[in-house]
Amino acid sequence: MKPLSPNAVLGIVGGGQLGRMSAVAAARLGFRAHILTTEADGPAAQVAHAVTVGAYDDHDALRRFANAVDIVTFEFENISADGLDLLSSLRPVHPSGHILRISQDRIAEKTFLHDAGIPLAPFHLVKSESDLQVAADALGYPFILKTTRLGYDGKGQARLHAPEDLAPAFARLSPHPLVAEGMVDFACEVSVMVARNAAGEVVTFDATENRHRNGILDLSLAPARIPAELATRARGLATDIACALDLIGIMGVEMFVDRDGGLLVNEIAPRPHNSGHWTMNACPVDQFEMHVRAVTGLPLPPATRHSDAVMKNLIGPDDMALWPQVMATPGLLAHHYGKAQARPGRKMGHVNVLFPHGGLPGEFGVQDALGPLATPADASAE
Ligand code: AMP
Repeated sequence: MKPLSPNAVLGIVGGGQLGRMSAVAAARLGFRAHILTTEADGPAAQVAHAVTVGAYDDHDALRRFANAVDIVTFEFENISADGLDLLSSLRPVHPSGHILRISQDRIAEKTFLHDAGIPLAPFHLVKSESDLQVAADALGYPFILKTTRLGYDGKGQARLHAPEDLAPAFARLSPHPLVAEGMVDFACEVSVMVARNAAGEVVTFDATENRHRNGILDLSLAPARIPAELATRARGLATDIACALDLIGIMGVEMFVDRDGGLLVNEIAPRPHNSGHWTMNACPVDQFEMHVRAVTGLPLPPATRHSDAVMKNLIGPDDMALWPQVMATPGLLAHHYGKAQARPGRKMGHVNVLFPHGGLPGEFGVQDALGPLATPADASAE
């Protein structure tokens, strides 16, 4: 693949914050970002060279968008199979439609990963209540039931503790089929961002430790506070998955570290990922530039980290009420997504805090460095 020349147009499907930060990275490298989005004034549209406003299954909009760009990439994975086929017939699409289809469907994803020899929690396809009973017998209680499509940020899942939970959970979660998963008693959750280009160059950023609140990513710590050997294994797994998929682009690989020091992959996201936002301030080349480089055929520099970092998401009206304090606090490196309305649970921005390389502090130090954004419960637990 010949690298795209400066001034070429990078088409990005999706108009949210990942598209915004990808568009800014593209502009830094001299590309023009053209966004396909449903929101004319959304986070990505605000910073882009051009915008096509339309639904992701509107063939006329997809055609106009594709005809205006040189290559297509994504910040949003849930575009229809038809839409993907149409885009792929008109322009090079990276990552390929094949990868998006796998990541859109938990069953396809788990089957692919399992067949590629990647360690996963045990899982069962659940099409009926009797399948659910079979899964419960095999997995034991508690276990997790998830939708196979369109689940994110912990939406579309239920924890089942006893036989009487089966029928209500089966009725509540939709669309069917569902997937039942063994509950992992994890010590922590980590993720690895891996980028790969058409020449087969692969780089991984340091493993990141992730903490969730109310099912939404709250904090990422980089590097993850896990043994070096485990971090190397996590990066190796991400590399194996990227190669098995023939990935062109960047991908987040979420994993559980179990109590025995084993790694189990939870899910993959073939796009920039919230848990890679720390790279924006702690790495010479961040995940967004790495993504743009990978899809445009440019060389991939080492995914070096010059500082340790903590990333905290700014979520909903409560966090945004603290924006003036965030702006007034030295050391909080803030990223606002330009969303007009702070609805509860909505990701509005994030802050990164840097520490010297090797100097990531313990819990108290992390909360202290977050100043107005410290989590009271965690801080008082120290
Ligand atoms: P997901 O929608 O698969 O990303 O799951 C959201 C969150 O639910 C994860 O980040 C975990 O904290 C938790 N979770 C998901 N699957 C499992 C599992 N099999 N065992 C334990 N916790 C899980």
